Amino acid sequence: MSDDKTPTNQEFKLEPDSELRFEVESKNEKVTLELKSGVAEVFGTELVKGKLYTFTTGAKIAVFTWRGCVVELKGKVDVSYVAKETPQVMYLNAHACLEKLREKAGEENSRGPITMVVGPTDVGKSTLCRLLLNYAVRMGRRPVFVDLDVGQGQISIPGTIGALLVERPASVEEGFSQQAPLVYHFGHKAPNGNLTLYNILVTRLAEEVQERMQANRRANASGVMINTCGWVKGDGYKHLTHVAQAFEVDVIIVLDQERLYNELVRDMPAFVKVVFLPKNGGVVERSSGARAEARDARVREYFYGMRSPLYPHSFDVRFNETKIYKIGAPSLPDSCMPLGMKAEDNHTKLVAVSAGTNLLHHVLAVSFAASTEDDVIRSNVAGFICVTNVDMERQTMTVLCPQPRPLPKTLLLLSDIQFMDSH
Ligand code: ADP
Repeated sequence: MSDDKTPTNQEFKLEPDSELRFEVESKNEKVTLELKSGVAEVFGTELVKGKLYTFTTGAKIAVFTWRGCVVELKGKVDVSYVAKETPQVMYLNAHACLEKLREKAGEENSRGPITMVVGPTDVGKSTLCRLLLNYAVRMGRRPVFVDLDVGQGQISIPGTIGALLVERPASVEEGFSQQAPLVYHFGHKAPNGNLTLYNILVTRLAEEVQERMQANRRANASGVMINTCGWVKGDGYKHLTHVAQAFEVDVIIVLDQERLYNELVRDMPAFVKVVFLPKNGGVVERSSGARAEARDARVREYFYGMRSPLYPHSFDVRFNETKIYKIGAPSLPDSCMPLGMKAEDNHTKLVAVSAGTNLLHHVLAVSFAASTEDDVIRSNVAGFICVTNVDMERQTMTVLCPQPRPLPKTLLLLSDIQFMDSH
């Protein structure tokens, strides 16, 4: 390690209102962070003095302090610097405005603010959602977090959309607790994989979130924070307006892009407050390779856990024990469709998939629907399995599953998302 340019132990003294940014890039590297004195937070979660926080490859972190602090980093960081200019005060103001709306909602026993965060990719949308949710929960609120980013979401695995009741601040190392999320299977890593289906699922999720909030007064007054994906042009813009409508949003925070801000001001009804906020200069742009790695890490985490290891089960399932479907048939031009049927109908068609090597390494969602007589597309999912081997001779497949055999449900939905189990 002695030939590394970056020293392995570094102490940083941070002035009030500044942040230490660092990245861990080298493979299999571990970096620990310790707060030595003062008060500091990582994306809105307060650090505990003397506690060691460990970050692994791919981590891009900012330690912010309102009042000044001393922190220590151990291990090889590829980037580390202190920044004095951050938009944190503006983010705190946004939080204060949302708090006012929550207070009012609490007094009137009505619905708290439904906020949607939009902007192009890599402007810090997910990070801002996490910060605002953390600030809310630290004030005793119980907001609902909705993540519609099917590629780089913070709930469940890629290829899904979901919602989570936030009851405690995100863990500094692992993010929000994934206990009992509400998850819908989409099956693609970007909304344009099947926009018709995506919009249907957004509507369904919005209905379900609304219903659950009505049954929970505290959550209802706390409101919802919606993270979106960075697809903001053309059909992407249309899909954002659909999300706004489906969730009946009250506030839209636009990060970084003035054009998008102006379009939304123009197109949203007057009761929707559209706010522009600058991006934090530390937000790191990710290459498509880094995105793919992040997706892979997310699936691995689902099966194997992150800090506290999970032990998934691996067992064989006979092809004839399962019913596998995918949603959406390849599109045909309208002229090729039977009379009275539109090509669009194809996007929501349930298509039976015959088991075989085509399933290898694919993630399959385990649907709550009992049979195709249920509304399979709009049903949420119990969890996921991954096909690690296919034996055509024995007509079986080996699956990785969080639960021991047998499979809890037999209706499975094929996802485009693939995962190579290297354990
Ligand atoms: P988006 O949701 O807009 O795609 P993210 O919130 O996921 O963007 O941020 C992109 C990356 O930048 C993430 O890895 C995140 O941890 C990192 N990041 C965010 N804010 C900062 C910051 N202030 N300093 C350093 N890294 C940051």
